[in-house]
Amino acid sequence: MELIEEKIELAASIIAKAKHAVVFTGAGVSAESGIPTFRGEDGLWKKYNPEEVASIYGFRRNPKAFWEFSKDLLGKTTAKPNPAHYSIAELEKMGIVKAVITQNIDMLHQRAGNTKVLELHGSVERLECLDCGEEHTWDYVGEFLIRNEIPRCKKCKSYYVKPKVVLFGEALPRDVLMEAVEESRRCDVFIVVGSSLVVYPAAELPFLAKRSGAKLIIINAEPTHADSMAEVVIIGKAGEVLPKIVKKVKEIKASERS
Ligand code: NAD
Ligand code: ZN
Repeated sequence: MELIEEKIELAASIIAKAKHAVVFTGAGVSAESGIPTFRGEDGLWKKYNPEEVASIYGFRRNPKAFWEFSKDLLGKTTAKPNPAHYSIAELEKMGIVKAVITQNIDMLHQRAGNTKVLELHGSVERLECLDCGEEHTWDYVGEFLIRNEIPRCKKCKSYYVKPKVVLFGEALPRDVLMEAVEESRRCDVFIVVGSSLVVYPAAELPFLAKRSGAKLIIINAEPTHADSMAEVVIIGKAGEVLPKIVKKVKEIKASERS
């Protein structure tokens, strides 16, 4: 048997026994939906300077650069969940996965059918004015972007209307982070999918889960610095690996019933 197939079987046997699994995802889970990641091959950081375009300081200094960059990332509103997202939703339906903790802002887990999604970095769903707090819709903001203009607040006319996503230099939503910490502590299996595990504090969660007694499974296109801690590490594409794991989990569950 191929090594990767053995690892898929091992991961499936651990997941099939789980009573309370948590899945932790990063940009890699959405790569096969056509949304670029930050790091890794074809990552956006090869094209943009993160300090400049994706930090709160950069946004305040130069909102135009932020909107240029956003066209590559946030503009992908037509992106659809891929087999990785659907596999994770399937594991929730089977009663195995109790929560998804995501660093992504693309809402693809919800679209795939997961009901408990903890968005550590917010989401693109809504926009707000940093100066007066007024909320805006993409329809409103899109009118400016089509004309290549910087969106302006409809209430106070500020140029600082921003999607409610956490930029570098901004704090994570406290209640979401607390819940993610709680889920990481209580889970028996913690599955990392498509994250370089370098953005903190999010990347602390797999370590917390491990210290709290969970088994750790990592599925990523390249090695991470947490690999040595994991029970199973699968280097591969999430959209190919996860459906195979779910298929095996179903086989194990079916054989237990018969
Ligand atoms: P990252 O960009 O730092 O790392 C992505 C990882 O996924 C890399 O290690 C890469 O090798 C791996 N990868 C790429 N394609 C893959 C595939 N098909 N299957 C499995 N793995 C794959 O992403 P991160 O760890 O999430 O951290 C960066 C920050 O980027 C996060 O804060 C997040 O908010 C933001 N971000 C979000 C999106 C999104 O919402 N889809 C996209 C880009 C960046
Ligand atoms: Zn305003």
